[in-house]
Parts: sequence; structure tokens; C-alpha cells
Amino acid sequence: MSTHPEQSNDDGSKLHPEPVAHDDDAMLRDGRRLDHAEAASKPLRSRPEEQPRGAKIRGNRPVDQVEAAARFIAAPEHEKMHDERLWDLRQKRDQEMHGIPEWEELRTLASAIKEHTLTHLDEYLEQFEANARSNGIHVHWARDAAEHNRIVHGILSDHGAKSLIKSKSMLTEECGFRPYMASVGIEVIETDLGERIQQLDNENPSHVVVPAVHKLRTDVAEVFARTLGTDPGNSDVHYLAEAQREANRPLILAADAGMTGANFVVAETGSFVVCTNEGNADLSANVPKLHIASIGIEKLIPRLGDLAVFIRLLSRSALGSPITQYTSHFRGPRAGGELHVVLVDNGRSERLGMAEFWTSLKCIRCGACMNTCPVYRRSGGLSYGATYSGPIGLIIDPTFNARKYSNLPFASTLNGSCSNVCPVKINIHEQIYAWRRELVNQHEVPLAKKIAMKAAGALLSRPAAYRAAIAAAHVALAHLPRFVIYNRLNAWGKHREVPHPPKQTFHSWYKANRGGNHE
Ligand code: SF4
Repeated sequence: MSTHPEQSNDDGSKLHPEPVAHDDDAMLRDGRRLDHAEAASKPLRSRPEEQPRGAKIRGNRPVDQVEAAARFIAAPEHEKMHDERLWDLRQKRDQEMHGIPEWEELRTLASAIKEHTLTHLDEYLEQFEANARSNGIHVHWARDAAEHNRIVHGILSDHGAKSLIKSKSMLTEECGFRPYMASVGIEVIETDLGERIQQLDNENPSHVVVPAVHKLRTDVAEVFARTLGTDPGNSDVHYLAEAQREANRPLILAADAGMTGANFVVAETGSFVVCTNEGNADLSANVPKLHIASIGIEKLIPRLGDLAVFIRLLSRSALGSPITQYTSHFRGPRAGGELHVVLVDNGRSERLGMAEFWTSLKCIRCGACMNTCPVYRRSGGLSYGATYSGPIGLIIDPTFNARKYSNLPFASTLNGSCSNVCPVKINIHEQIYAWRRELVNQHEVPLAKKIAMKAAGALLSRPAAYRAAIAAAHVALAHLPRFVIYNRLNAWGKHREVPHPPKQTFHSWYKANRGGNHE
């Protein structure tokens, strides 16, 4: 969301009681949808569509992504907005990519640097630790989420800190950090606008880059009215952003400690880099005297010179912009302050040992695979019921809990688009397919699905039976009553229509016109 120059109202406050975005050029472009159509001001409907909520979590039972996705699809305004907004990002990414002739070389280089680092991770971690310590940084190691949370709590307790401002970090989501802090009585305030919206709504981020991308303006207006006391009938983005800023800034200024993650960690310099578009990481790192950075061990790169490769790829892949507004380097504590880095494993070493899945550790969390995925775009990130959603989530989440996330690798068309856009060339769709096989081997696939797949396999491996079935289906599709195909028992028939069967199959056409015989 963008901000608007401050205006004073009669009561001296700086809120905007009425929509102020009357920039016609920004609102309409050739009469078509805007770059960020949702950001335009328009009158509210009397009853906004209710926001569909995410997957229901029932302990360790497999998350039912299909059920949650169906609820998202059943909210047409949300589904349309989500699909268009993310496709818009994908198109902008393509435009940026076409402006860089050496794009494929950059991807190859980025992939090679990551693979080299991951295969020498122990050396680079030790190099980083030594250099960071000599820069005056305190370095801690956390085996898992619980240890991470305990370490951070310990640092905060040592400083008597009772409040923490925090910039967006998927690692802390992984660690269940906010609920843990709440349980020990430390207030956490998110400084990223989207993440703050999600925090106020008690929801997880639905996207690794744009955490509240699944929400309409009217959803945000409802959340802010409930939590900040804004006008529930005013969903003007400038009004909402300003109201949030006015509520959050005093908390930021009064916070005892700040927390960031890191996008990249440079072994040779003992420094790390955080990329944001709101400058919120800089607030978290520089306003309080105590700065804690929680960093996954896979974020290492060897040299500062390698950084340029990733910086050129990251924002272009994520948002279709040449660079993030802020690319902040942290090399030591601020004057008079303290800087702690917590290096977190939380399953990464184990993943590094998985022959088919270790390259998922190359991920730089750009979200491009999510933006391009037809399943993600139409089902919303919260339908996955996991920290990571979209294609990257399908291959990471089962490494945390194969049973709980056993349905996720099936939420893909395997079209390969995710792999094509990935800036570090992860073979995402192949890993999704490999996970399906792995889950069958681990007996984590429901019996009904197993039987259906066995039957399909038997049919597809017998050409004569397959052709007979196709011929029968052609006749049946033309004559069956509609309710036989579109009913509650046939999930495939939900939200889609079977195309009319062609008069002639490709096989019979080929036989007639080319005379081939491929029985
Ligand atoms: S898997 Fe690739 S495309 Fe997806 S978020 Fe990670 S780096 Fe980006």
C-alpha cells in the first residue's frame, strides 16, 4: 500500500475521514484495470463479501487443502482479486526479465553459487561466525524452533525488554515465535504493513512477500475498525495506511528491542542484508539499541561480490521491480547498541541430506513460483494450512511433517511454470512429483487415492483398453444427464466444465491421415 501526504482534519488528527485518492491517472488507465486495482478508491458496497478463512488445523491430521480452497473459490470477489493481483506480478516479472539479456546466465550463476555454498555450508557458517564476532556481533546457534525462541527470550530478558518491534520473517513464522513471545509476556509489534494487518487479524501470512495479498480493502477496513477503531465504512487505502501508521509509530518508538530476519548472509564480511520496500527492517534494527537477527542457515553466500547476482534477481522475480526500495547492510551493532545473530537450523541440515529435496534450500523466498501457480492463485495461501504455501510450500512443508502436509504435493498441476520462473533454478515441479512418490512409499496417501491411481495406471498402460475407454467416454459424455457428471461425489466437476468431446480422437485422425499404426 502507498501512503499519502499527511492532512490535518478539523480535530487536528492526521487521519483521512474520506477517500482522498482522486488521482484519475492512478485509478484508471485506458479504462482498464490498474496495476494495483485493489488500491483504487471506490464506494463500498453495503455488504462486502466476507473473507474466506484458511484451512482448519486439527492437530497432526492431514490438512485438507481442497476443502479450504473450495471455500476460497466460493468467494468470487476474493478469488478474482487474488488471481488478477498475482498474475499482475507475474507479468511484471516477465517484463523485467525481458529487459535483462543475461537473465538466464544470472539464474544459472545464482543456482551455482547456492549449490556451492550448500555443499560447503559448514565452512561458510564458521567463516561467517568468526567474521561476525570480530565485527562485534554476538552469534548464537539454534538447533530448532524451540531453542531459537528460548535464545531470543534469554537475550530479551537479559536486557529487561518487554516489547519487540519485528520486521517480516518467514523463519519466525516457522518457529511459532509470536505465540511463544505472547506466552512469556513480551509484546511483539510487526513493522511491515501487510504483516501487521495479519497480526491484528490473528492470521498467518498467506504469501512470502505480500502477506495480506488475499485480503480485499474491505477486509482490512474491518480488521482496523475492530482493532484500531477506524471507520468501518471507509476502506480508502490512504486512510487505512495512515491510521495504521499513527497507531504503530508510537509503539515502534517506545520498543525495547528490534528484530529482523535476513535475505542474504555474507561469509567473507560477517555481515547480512535485509531487503524491504517499506524501510521497516531499518526501523526494527535502528530505533531500539538492541537488535536481534534470526537467520536460517541456508541464507549464506560466500562473498560480497556474489550479492549482486541475487539482488538483481530478487525483486524482479518477486514484484517485477528492478530493486527493493531498501537494501540494508548490517555489519555490526549501532553506536552504543548490541547486535545478536541467531543462526537457526530447524530441519535444514536434515533436508540437506535428502537426495531429492536438498536443492529446495536454494530458495531465496521471492514468491515467483506462487505468483505463477494456477492452484495457488485460485485457492489462496491460507488454504495450505502451513507456513509456506504455493509450489515452494509443497516441497518444504512435508520436510517438517510428512503426515500433516501429505495432501499438499497433490495441489499442483505439475505444469512446470514454477520451475521456469524460479530465479535459483529449483526443479520445483519435479520435487513435487518426487514427494508424491515418497508419500506413497511412506503410506501417507489415502486409500481411495491409491486405488484410483492404480486403476488409472492399469488403464493408461494398456493402449487398447485406454482407447476403448475413451470411445465409451465420448459416447457417454454426449448423452449422460448433467447430474451424473456434476455432483457432490465428483470433485473434478466442481468449478469446471468438461469440454465437448471432439468428433474424432487424435488417434483415429492420425490413423486415417498418416496411416500410422502404433498399437
Ligand atoms: S522456490 Fe524459487 S521461485 Fe519459489 S520462492 Fe523460492 S526462489 Fe522464489
